[in-house]
Amino acid sequence: MKNKDIPQNETAKLLTTITQVEREQINKVLERARRKKCVLCGGEVVGYGHNAQPLRKGLCCDDCNNKVIAIRLMATREGEK
Ligand SMILES: [Zn+2]
Repeated sequence: MKNKDIPQNETAKLLTTITQVEREQINKVLERARRKKCVLCGGEVVGYGHNAQPLRKGLCCDDCNNKVIAIRLMATREGEK
């Protein structure tokens, strides 16, 4: 049987056999994988991040979000003229 063929309940059984230390290590790896990069400054995005549009497609950090909001406001005002 190949790895990908392991049924869901088998995976659950495996997860109950891992130790607390192993669980913490797995969580750390997952945490690292969840971390995102800001598409505007390349810095780390903490939490969910913000939509960087219309500047760029993707997520940006808190700092860059201030710029994005300012540009969005400017764009809205331009549209009102
Ligand atoms: Zn940024």
